[in-house]
Amino acid sequence: MPGPVVREIEAKPILNPSKIHDYCVNPYTGCEVGCIYCYAALFMRRYSGHSEPWGEFVDVKVNAPALLAKQIVKAKRGTICFASVCDPYQPLEERYGLTRRCLEVLVGCDFPVEIQTKSARVRRDLDVIRQIPDEDIDDAHEVADYERDALSKFMTPWFLMMASLRASPLSLMYNNSGISFGKAEGHMSGYFGPIEEQTLKNKYFRQVLFTGKHCQLVVMCLQPGEEIGNEVHPDVDQFFRVEQGEAKFVLNGSEEHVVKKNEAAIVPAGTHHNVINTSKTTRLKLYTVYSPPNHPDGTVHKTKAEAEAAEKHV
Ligand code: SF4
Repeated sequence: MPGPVVREIEAKPILNPSKIHDYCVNPYTGCEVGCIYCYAALFMRRYSGHSEPWGEFVDVKVNAPALLAKQIVKAKRGTICFASVCDPYQPLEERYGLTRRCLEVLVGCDFPVEIQTKSARVRRDLDVIRQIPDEDIDDAHEVADYERDALSKFMTPWFLMMASLRASPLSLMYNNSGISFGKAEGHMSGYFGPIEEQTLKNKYFRQVLFTGKHCQLVVMCLQPGEEIGNEVHPDVDQFFRVEQGEAKFVLNGSEEHVVKKNEAAIVPAGTHHNVINTSKTTRLKLYTVYSPPNHPDGTVHKTKAEAEAAEKHV
């Protein structure tokens, strides 16, 4: 079988804010493991501009270690997750070593690190990982080297975790090394909370509150006169509810609807749409549910400019 389409790119930035882990570092965009259950598959093609199927493209961020070294000196202390939308130890890591070199940058910095991988390739870097305080190897992507197995992409983390406990000494090795590993809750738990209150408190352009396998809950705040921008989701039905202000929905360039506070809207998949805050003084605050998810879990875009930049650089 031919390998993935590999493109070397320059990232800007590499240390990205994340609601779940404070920061995430994704040395690669795309994942050649290509699990069929992967939530990143739902939106990463759109973010990266690739037309290839999930698992058949990888952008390699060749400047990741140098960029991380620059960013980390200005960053506030926080937990860094490797990685949120790719496996940092996918096979290309053998050729590029970006994850290892990024970890080397973090030695001596007081930033806890969490590693999510389904590859035993992580063993190569235990010497570096041991030098990082509060490191955590997470079995959300499993602890065994099942990535090499073609069946791996059909198996959920839980299946593989159980299989690894039976078949692999790797988990024991981690325990003996003093490095902890555990279950990632990020993509598993539901949402329970005062959604109206959270929507009204939100000051960011976009903030993902919850990502499930089949839907995503996002709060948004549009400044006076700001708009989300024309977009279309081929496979995503989207629900909106306005909690403050007034939104003008423009569908397919001509159909217009005004949606006021306490009103809701649904935009079906395949409909071009824009949401505009027509007020000159009041912020528009809304929450929206995508089904399926449309953004990386934990996404926080403080401004629309940040959101547009992220579309190109996740
Ligand atoms: S290894 Fe992880 S990131 Fe890669 S395709 Fe599988 S679930 Fe997605």
